[in-house]
Amino acid sequence: MKLEIRQVQKSFNRTPALLPTDLTLEHGQFTTLLGPSGCGKTTLLRMLAGLEQPDAGAIYADGQCIYSAEKRIDVPTHKRNLGMVFQDFALWPHMTVYENVAFGLRAGKQKSDLRQKVKEALDMVRLKGMEDRYPHQLSGGQQQRVAFARAVAVRPGVILFDEPLSALDAVLREEMRIEMMALVRDMGLTALYVTHDQVEAMSMSDEIVVMEKGRILQKGRPETIYATPSEPFVASFIGKSNWLTPNQSMVRPEYVSWNKINHDDLRYHGVVLSVSYVGERYEVRVQMDGLGVWTAYRNNRVGIGEQVDLYVSPERIHRMNIE
Ligand code: ADP
Ligand code: MG
Repeated sequence: MKLEIRQVQKSFNRTPALLPTDLTLEHGQFTTLLGPSGCGKTTLLRMLAGLEQPDAGAIYADGQCIYSAEKRIDVPTHKRNLGMVFQDFALWPHMTVYENVAFGLRAGKQKSDLRQKVKEALDMVRLKGMEDRYPHQLSGGQQQRVAFARAVAVRPGVILFDEPLSALDAVLREEMRIEMMALVRDMGLTALYVTHDQVEAMSMSDEIVVMEKGRILQKGRPETIYATPSEPFVASFIGKSNWLTPNQSMVRPEYVSWNKINHDDLRYHGVVLSVSYVGERYEVRVQMDGLGVWTAYRNNRVGIGEQVDLYVSPERIHRMNIE
């Protein structure tokens, strides 16, 4: 399903949560809304789901209007053909795994082959044989798989995720990230994923939408956003930035060298602040003369307090257009 958001906006008590926003989610694409807490990600997702009413603007699903403030169109949630997975799983505690998954199908009136559809969905998330368990008898990861199975069992046109993995520990989070990504791809689902975790966003998405304070700052492939952030906030929020001028040009740590390699490399002087071994390499923070703190990588230790020269090739410097 293709989703189009046109000039959608929302305020709560006259405070804007989302400024007028345009966004298109292409069919079959995995799009992530990435931004700090309070920037309006959940509000945007809930408006798509029909759980929150935009103050203005319109939303289209495969060209059909599902919301228009002007035309007073507001297709209810259960008719929007979408699945949802949230952080707190939202499973019914008094229902078994089977009943939880079947619930969505019953609500969606897809009652034919109910057993078969529940079975398929549970199979897909590797929960075969767990049909009769209750949520409290499952691990966090298993609970999240049930929530996912319930969401996809109805074969929705789009699946919406709101920070679905943030309640899980780091190892499980990474495992589930890979699993969910594979499932969404295999099913050819259009997905909108909300997170404040840049690693999650970078690793899962076809497209990342970076948000701040109720607006979209940049939309693009993860590689593009990392290499060419449109503004300082994006540069700082995704990956590490070493600033060469206050808030205008920067270089990523992997392009900072400890030796002069090319004749036109620029040289910067600083003092080592800290050295962290992170496995495979050392992450070194350096207080640069007249600049901020940089991060650079190396293969061996360097002493704290040591004076160092760092080199940057001019072509690795990324400049941002700021007003
Ligand atoms: P995010 O999901 O990016 O953390 P939200 O969309 O939840 O951000 O919130 C955006 C802004 O809108 C925040 O300032 C939040 O406090 C406010 N907000 C969200 N929902 C409500 C609500 N139901 N009532 C009042 N303010 C709200
Ligand atoms: Mg949120």
